Amino acid sequence: MHEWSLAEGIIATISDECSRLSVDSVSDVDLSVGELAQIELPVLREALRSLKKGTVMSGCRIHISQEKTAFRCRKCGRNWSFSDSRKELEPLGDGGDNAVHYIPSSINAFISCPSCGSPDFDISSGFGLRISRFKPGGRRI
Ligand SMILES: [Zn+2]
Repeated sequence: MHEWSLAEGIIATISDECSRLSVDSVSDVDLSVGELAQIELPVLREALRSLKKGTVMSGCRIHISQEKTAFRCRKCGRNWSFSDSRKELEPLGDGGDNAVHYIPSSINAFISCPSCGSPDFDISSGFGLRISRFKPGGRRI
């Protein structure tokens, strides 16, 4: 499962940042996971809990929040959210949601700008996973 490699990546990124800042522990980490990211949160939590042992993150609290997916039209600049576009997926039934979740690059085939109808848009947020904040716990002496 890729949640385990994501967890490794998160821990590696925070460990690097801690050595750069000369801190040896982290008390809180906030993660933001996109609505369209193909991430199983319970699996990610489990992976983090298991992999953080013995790292700068061993005693830290991890907060995971879900980020709404937003789109931005390249033609007219309109911003809108995935839930606004849900009805466009309805004719596809459950298959529509699955197609978008499992092949996010196919999203332009199903969704178009609500203002101008252009299928040329960017996914401006809610696509992947990011570390939105972390709080260092202690300074290395
Ligand atoms: Zn548009």
